[in-house]
Amino acid sequence: MPNERLNGKVIVIGGGMGGLISAIKAAKNGFSVELLTEGMGATAMSLGGINIAGKIAPDKKVESPKQGLQKLVNRDRKHTYEFGLKPELTPEEKTEKILQILSEEITWLIPLLSREGYSLKGSLERNMILLNALGGLRTVCFAPQSFAAGNLLDIQPNTKAPMDDRLRIGIIKIKSLQDFYPQFIREGLLNYFQFEKQVQIIEMDEQMITGERIIPPSEYALLLDTEDFRELFLDHVSLIDSRGFSHLGFPAILGLKHTEEIQQEIEQLLNVKIFEIPTAPPTIIGQRLIMALEQVALKAGVNIHFGVKVVSAKNLDIDYKPQIISIDYLSIVEEKKTITGDYFILATGNAIGGGITTEKEEVIEPIFRLGLGKVTNPVEKKYIDSTETISDSCWENSSNNSFIRNSRGIEIDHQFKPKQNSRIIATNLFACGALLNSHYGIEDHCGMGAAIFSAIQIINHLKEDMKGD
Ligand SMILES: Cc1cc2nc3c(=O)[nH]c(=O)nc-3n(C[C@H](O)[C@H](O)[C@H](O)COP(=O)(O)OP(=O)(O)OC[C@H]3O[C@@H](n4cnc5c(N)ncnc54)[C@H](O)[C@@H]3O)c2cc1C
Repeated sequence: MPNERLNGKVIVIGGGMGGLISAIKAAKNGFSVELLTEGMGATAMSLGGINIAGKIAPDKKVESPKQGLQKLVNRDRKHTYEFGLKPELTPEEKTEKILQILSEEITWLIPLLSREGYSLKGSLERNMILLNALGGLRTVCFAPQSFAAGNLLDIQPNTKAPMDDRLRIGIIKIKSLQDFYPQFIREGLLNYFQFEKQVQIIEMDEQMITGERIIPPSEYALLLDTEDFRELFLDHVSLIDSRGFSHLGFPAILGLKHTEEIQQEIEQLLNVKIFEIPTAPPTIIGQRLIMALEQVALKAGVNIHFGVKVVSAKNLDIDYKPQIISIDYLSIVEEKKTITGDYFILATGNAIGGGITTEKEEVIEPIFRLGLGKVTNPVEKKYIDSTETISDSCWENSSNNSFIRNSRGIEIDHQFKPKQNSRIIATNLFACGALLNSHYGIEDHCGMGAAIFSAIQIINHLKEDMKGD
């Protein structure tokens, strides 16, 4: 049962990881919560897992979140994880505090997601090494169960040691499936293992059941959630010759809702360990995560308005509290509506989610119209293109003065309140996630971790604010 509403009304803008976590937490703390969201943002593109601090740019892999956080807090620029912490803390104390907050919150989140069919495995002690959609390796500390079985550190802990003869990995290529690249994945594995004969591609021809069509991952996953299609698909799976293989990697299309069940069925049929490998974004795994989070939010009593675009905010008044901010949004039928609240949380993501855009030569946050500088240089302009934002070369080529480092998101104060020209713009407006210029989500492999952390910190401030009134 949702809590009794005691603490006022919170309006959350954005339904990715940052928005949904802050909405769930606010609702569980007795606030009445309305969440308005246009789409699913970068969270739906994610490769399946919660990164805390897995790679400190430009290409320094780290073994554990603790090691990563230590490097982050010792760095010259301020990271989202550091906002809200007492400035007098030493770097060691900051690291311990961040780990403590994350540990409490992730411990709270894991069983809630698991109840919605999204089981996370992992720990804050050690990063896993998983494959990305193009065969690259990524460090993740919490991964969905179906991916965690593909942790290369568990398969072969010491890459320099001779490879165990019993180890043989098959990558399943499904003939009708689009956006999955077994050849790249094989090459990625060979870079890691360096034993050619032990990594093979196995083609599964199931066009008898799909026709000659090429099917996108989202449709495939939906089909596999239906009993009839799944039965026919499993008939084809049973024809795979799995003898001699220790592990089989399937594209991550094993259903949107029934993944764990399907994975078990395949394991029983083939008597071999199965793991999922992401397809190209937007990923099924990202959609599974959003669906699970939305269910948790609905059960916590959050009122979610799907498919609405917030277009503007007005009546900002810095001198009064609670301030009246009203936001205008477009409903599905393009009808303009207005909503007011006591507190507002802006969680609209970066250029990928829609939280940052350009108008002529200006980079702006479009709802509160926060200016993020001019795009004057063609090289800088390149960095706000969303495809560039997700490529690693973007980080390697960017200098300290480039757009992406300095102006890619909004500035906040120590309480996560957006600032413009060094002043907060309203005392009851907060911002979290990839919208912040201190987020560095892909660069430091900390996307979901920093979104969760900032969302939680906002709710802690709201609770304090209520006590103070
Ligand atoms: C390809 C890719 C893979 C990634 N993989 C991982 C990974 O495996 N692990 C990890 O930890 N991180 C990963 N990340 C990073 C991570 O996805 C992000 O850091 C995180 O999801 C950011 O969450 P967010 O809530 O701040 O923003 P988003 O998820 O982008 O959410 C923004 C939300 O705001 C909504 N919105 C925007 N404008 C409006 C508006 N005007 N009105 C209403 N709603 C609006 C959007 O529709 C969306 O719902 C990946 C990112 C990418 C791009």
